[in-house]
Amino acid sequence: MFWIRDKENQKPFIKEDEIFNLLEETKSPSKLKVRDIIQKSLSKERLNPDEVATLLNVEDDDTLEEIFEGARTLKRNVYGNRIVFFAPLYIGNKCINNCEYCGFRSSNTEIYRNSLSFEQLEKEVKVLEDKGHKRLILVYGEHPDYDADFIAKTVETVYKTKNRNGEIRRVNINAAPQTINDYKKIKEVGIGTFQIFQETYHFDTYKKVHPKGPKSSYIWRLYGLDRAVVAGIDDVGIGALFGLYDYKFEVMGLLYHTIHLEERFGFGPHTISFPRIEPALNTPLSEQPPYLVNDNEFKKIVAILRLAVPYTGLILTAREPSHIRNEVLKLGVSQIDAGSNIGIGAYSTEDQQAYKKSQFTLGDQRSLDAVINELAIEGYLPSFCTACYRMGRTGEHFMEFAIPGFVKRFCTPNAILTLLEYAQDYAPENTRISIEKRIEEELKVMKEGPLKEKLLERMDLVKAGRRDLYF
Ligand code: SAM
Ligand code: SF4
Repeated sequence: MFWIRDKENQKPFIKEDEIFNLLEETKSPSKLKVRDIIQKSLSKERLNPDEVATLLNVEDDDTLEEIFEGARTLKRNVYGNRIVFFAPLYIGNKCINNCEYCGFRSSNTEIYRNSLSFEQLEKEVKVLEDKGHKRLILVYGEHPDYDADFIAKTVETVYKTKNRNGEIRRVNINAAPQTINDYKKIKEVGIGTFQIFQETYHFDTYKKVHPKGPKSSYIWRLYGLDRAVVAGIDDVGIGALFGLYDYKFEVMGLLYHTIHLEERFGFGPHTISFPRIEPALNTPLSEQPPYLVNDNEFKKIVAILRLAVPYTGLILTAREPSHIRNEVLKLGVSQIDAGSNIGIGAYSTEDQQAYKKSQFTLGDQRSLDAVINELAIEGYLPSFCTACYRMGRTGEHFMEFAIPGFVKRFCTPNAILTLLEYAQDYAPENTRISIEKRIEEELKVMKEGPLKEKLLERMDLVKAGRRDLYF
């Protein structure tokens, strides 16, 4: 059993009985109590388990609206109106696990298995660069073909594939948990965030839906990001797949995971993801998830996560349809993908059979450009910034949160510079006009002074053809 290695520190830190008790004890909370908790979060403190359980137990629409308003306020006050863009790039769908919800599961005979060759990978990257992307997340099934050396080589290939004005400036990873030595190999090639979703924090459910392969070990996965941090990767992303078990328990699980990382390493996760199960080809559990999360519950999950861990980035993917994405963006999401295609090789081939190689179906099929245009019109500031990672400022969301003035000094100017690049290099006329208008509005509210002068100078340089300028 090659996966039961690096067994250090393997006490489960998800205390199930404690979670059930807290969820029981905090039922029917008073409005006053809920307001106090929201206030604590607005003063930028991470919430404790009893407080999050209390928020999760709010069921009446009025008090829920106060939670939503709290999340919107926190998002506005701390992070402003920026939304960072990324694209997923699926490298291969071979898999030795049999996760019951996933189209890539080993017993799925209807899916067409393949992996990108390095030449195909270059082609995919060029197509994404041609759309304007600067930040990718590479996604892999779990298979001996996708070992750490292979993952490292794919990351190197992405960084060195350049196209016209395009280049990928930050590569994140969503792959199987690794050993410490293997994480070191992956870190060496310069990755951003390493993501692992626990899927469900509920042990018995976990065991049931992960019957086979390395992923059947709950604890190996639970400590997967600990090993990443020990290996020197300090941007790590956690997540839960909603629909497998009670959403309230899963939110508590994400919080316990966060507290564990804080206690052990002095910092929490860089990002939290909260995918809902989507239908996957020939995968019955994905058609009828046992704990289906409806749209209102989904909004509640996002708002409570925003308030519970105010310093993390929240990632929302194109699994969700556009009307839901538009709503939850306001509640505190900081990163989204757009123009995504999750078929293997499907960006460069426009393969009509791509769904046969896909993990699940996407809810939002709008192009990157359509989303940028829409968000710019709505007053968001779309951003392709990757500056922190390249300046060695790890934990970008934490800095935005913790360092007074950080967003004004770095994030907003960098968002403007990268959005201007997008307008110059990729946007059609109508989007370019929306972006120019949007940037004008941002500049109007920016304080006069040396920073603004420097930004205006750099904007002129970008207009004259210079690229990749940042603060
Ligand atoms: N194979 C690796 C693993 O499982 O960790 C990494 C890649 S896996 C393709 C990425 C994530 O996709 C999983 O962690 C899971 O949360 C999510 N996923 C799997 N099946 C899904 C489905 N039917 N709908 C939505 N998300 C799904
Ligand atoms: Fe494989 Fe990951 Fe899908 Fe599970 S979720 S079957 S490990 S690709």
